[in-house]
Amino acid sequence: MDHYDPDTLAIRAGIVRSQFGEHSEALFLTSSFVFASAAQAAARFSNAEPGMVYSRYTNPTVSMFQDRLAALEGAEGCAATASGMAAILATAMTLLKAGDHVLCASGVFGATIQLFTGTLGKFGVETTFVDSPEPLAWERAAKPTTRLLFVESPSNPLCEIFDIAALAGVARRAGAQLAVDNCLCSPALQQPLALGADIVIHSATKYLDGHGRVLGGAVLGAKAFTDQVSAFLRSAGPTLSPFNAWIVLKGLDTLRIRMEAQSALALELARWLQAHPRVSRVYYPALESHPQHVLAMRQQRLGGAIVSFDVQGGKEAAWRLIDSTRMISITANLGDTKSTITHPASTTHGRLTPEARARAGIGDGLVRVAVGLESFKDIREDLARGLER
Ligand SMILES: *Cc1c(COP(=O)(O)O)cnc(C)c1O
Repeated sequence: MDHYDPDTLAIRAGIVRSQFGEHSEALFLTSSFVFASAAQAAARFSNAEPGMVYSRYTNPTVSMFQDRLAALEGAEGCAATASGMAAILATAMTLLKAGDHVLCASGVFGATIQLFTGTLGKFGVETTFVDSPEPLAWERAAKPTTRLLFVESPSNPLCEIFDIAALAGVARRAGAQLAVDNCLCSPALQQPLALGADIVIHSATKYLDGHGRVLGGAVLGAKAFTDQVSAFLRSAGPTLSPFNAWIVLKGLDTLRIRMEAQSALALELARWLQAHPRVSRVYYPALESHPQHVLAMRQQRLGGAIVSFDVQGGKEAAWRLIDSTRMISITANLGDTKSTITHPASTTHGRLTPEARARAGIGDGLVRVAVGLESFKDIREDLARGLER
């Protein structure tokens, strides 16, 4: 389907129909598959004959999701995982060994920091957290043992932007791979592989599903690499369930129109917040006041749906704002059609020391809104109440 536009690929790529000719993608809820003979079973197990064996290795619904997401990211291969964290773990287990070194942006998802320092540290993988998006800072932090550079762009919650093409150059010169967690943009807004990244990571839990229903994840890149990731998943087990794959596959149908509508609402909200006297700073890449606005708009089609802002009055004012909402959900999830609000300093980043939080730029007055698909008027009024108190 190479010649089709992304809009068509999002709806039709990867479809394989069973003998019944069903129009909609089928959900194959089966743990294993049967063989015509002992010889066929042996051939399937040894990969001499392609085909399904067991749903920890392959499943038709999961394959449809993998093929469709690969088409959207412009990737040769895709390995679906049980969650976004399983995607990051599978990437690290495939790429790294004891003695290897990782460069990771300091503002990444909390569990990602935990995974690199705690779990991988235990197995002799060393991680350096880089505080700056400047490629020179990454170049300087690289070592002969560096094998992986890991960033989120935009980052969560501060929407920091990383120059993917420049960091791909740093990775190449260091003999390492660049992995980009593309969670906040999704392929509808940004394709990191086209910008030079080697690996794309997804938490399908967020915008790919888009409705806050299931957990899922994916690793994308060269087929030789994703085949190795699949081999790890086959023996370790954190594969995507067929049911979750089916849900996320359906989510992809509407990915672009959701990302466009949610980005448009987010921009409107960011502009309104920027003009609000109780708001001291707004972090949103599509605002011209964002320090990396030009770079962001070179890499992304739109700003995405995460708007963070500092309210005057610190934690007390931030909590008052959150507690006075009536419609927006108080939850740390994002990527949903329902708008959500959270106080990063006491939730997603609550486990960091105050110094580490300050270094990451997470102030006590910071509030993050993940804009959904409700009406702008209702979102604005829900926030205005708490800001004007
Ligand atoms: C949520 C999230 C993850 C983890 O994904 P799960 O599906 O919850 O495991 C990783 N990276 C980013 C940027 C996220 O927002």
